[in-house]
Amino acid sequence: MGRAWRDEVMFEDDDEWPVRCPSCGDTTRKQIGWLMANTRLRCGGCGAVLGYYRERMARDLDDAHRAVDSFSRGLRIEKSAR
Ligand SMILES: [Zn+2]
Repeated sequence: MGRAWRDEVMFEDDDEWPVRCPSCGDTTRKQIGWLMANTRLRCGGCGAVLGYYRERMARDLDDAHRAVDSFSRGLRIEKSAR
């Protein structure tokens, strides 16, 4: 299937991932590397401590990669560059 999507530069460890607080609805941005190294974070809006499973984070990150890949594969070339 050509070049693996894992080679693409996106969702790197120091990229930020928005986390929406289920309590107040505020979005707190955390670096992906940080999220993968922890299992809880504090909401920047209301101060609630939010817990999560690292496996879930890894799976959702994987899904995000797939979504980007899927979108790119659905593109049509309507006019080539030359
Ligand atoms: Zn909150």
